[in-house]
Amino acid sequence: MAWDRRKRVRRDCIFCTDSNIYINYKNYHMLKQFLTKRGKIKTARVTRICAKHQRKLAQEIKRARFLALLPFTIQTYR
Ligand SMILES: [Zn+2]
Repeated sequence: MAWDRRKRVRRDCIFCTDSNIYINYKNYHMLKQFLTKRGKIKTARVTRICAKHQRKLAQEIKRARFLALLPFTIQTYR
């Protein structure tokens, strides 16, 4: 029987697969891993997060930045 490619569901988003992880600015230690070395928010393509959760993530990172829990930028010396 031929394997139907269309039926394959891509469930790479960690927030969709694990409902225990919740995106909140208070959970900034978790949000930290979605920032680059320079403090920018990583793209959804890199982190494999769905559009819905990427939007939520970006909002909570911005909230955490405003409360000085996360940096806006990180100074690196070249
Ligand atoms: Zn998701």
